[in-house]
Amino acid sequence: MGSNKYFKNPFPDYSPEIATKFILDKRLKPNISIVTLLPEKWQITMETLEKADRKDVTMYTGTGGIALLKYLKDPNNPEVLQEILHLLNLKSLRNKRQTFLCGDGGPLALGIIVNKKLGNEKEAQSLIEQLKNMKDAALDISSDFPSEYMYGRSGYLYALLFVNKNVNPPPFEGGLIRSIVEAILKIGQIKAKSEGFNCPLMYEWHNSYYLGAAHGVSGILFLLLNCTEYLLELEIMGLIKPTIDYLATLRFSSGNFPSSYKSENDKYVQWCHGAPGFLYMFTKAYKVFNNPAYLELAILCGDVIWKRGLLRKGYSLCHGVSGNGYCFLELYKITQDEKHLYRAIRFAEWCLDYNEAHEETPPDRPLSLFEGIAGPMYFLLDIQRPMDAKFPGFSL
Ligand SMILES: [Zn+2]
Repeated sequence: MGSNKYFKNPFPDYSPEIATKFILDKRLKPNISIVTLLPEKWQITMETLEKADRKDVTMYTGTGGIALLKYLKDPNNPEVLQEILHLLNLKSLRNKRQTFLCGDGGPLALGIIVNKKLGNEKEAQSLIEQLKNMKDAALDISSDFPSEYMYGRSGYLYALLFVNKNVNPPPFEGGLIRSIVEAILKIGQIKAKSEGFNCPLMYEWHNSYYLGAAHGVSGILFLLLNCTEYLLELEIMGLIKPTIDYLATLRFSSGNFPSSYKSENDKYVQWCHGAPGFLYMFTKAYKVFNNPAYLELAILCGDVIWKRGLLRKGYSLCHGVSGNGYCFLELYKITQDEKHLYRAIRFAEWCLDYNEAHEETPPDRPLSLFEGIAGPMYFLLDIQRPMDAKFPGFSL
């Protein structure tokens, strides 16, 4: 079961007595370490991030991710907003890739929001056009453009939805969003049918049927469940729901989920692969279908993460402890059960004690949002207001 992948969780699990040391009236107690040490942690992190390579502006590995972190902290400070534009370096974009996390979609989306806030209407409009003009590959179902989050249609669709959520009036029209959703559904149906899957939707990426959040079907379905206003009842009930129900049957006896179809390797418990990504799909399914069975599945994912989520790999959002900690916030937001907030706090403490002994594989990009130190910082900041916390580039 890959127990070499994670540290044994040293924290006592939730009890109302233990939780009173950390939580008061559904808020973090002001005297706990993740609150008191936050300013110092922020300072040190920001000084370290100054050294980041400015050529890569993506959210995942580049300065776009640092910009997103600064935006989380100070969304309305004009000086910070200018700094963010500097980090996004929008003039350097070459429209090579469309997605929010790994392409130009993220910098463009944040650039639109920030320019709007600064009153730079003309600049914002031009960026809106630029993002819209990248739609062709997403609409062409015969192209080799994938449908997953990091490099594909879902990642492009997320960029549009993120802007629409944060700009009033929403600049991207429903027709465009609907046509991308249609393309995603069509491709999933074609693949599931041609490969004889027992569910109506399936997606391939790099010759595998990935199932997790970053590259797989659970991530795609999570996003589709976030835009049900663009879906027909028939699609929700006839395509999406049966696919979720099918995915639920692929659960390992441990409660974890495989990273790809037919994989029997129960070793990944991280946002990009395994139970953490599935948790988001199930919580959203619970909201959309109002069916407690989905919430139950999400809670079981949370139990797996509590047991196996303190990864030896390190602290990252994508495949590390901070990304796993977000899962408890997601459960807390939906249940208001302070058990999940307590668990999130303990994972955040682990991130605060950031040390090399707990990071056995140094990240390739140590100054990035998804692999490096900006990720745990983002989580530490976001957990301060748990009901508003959102996994960046994924939750809407
Ligand atoms: Zn990952």
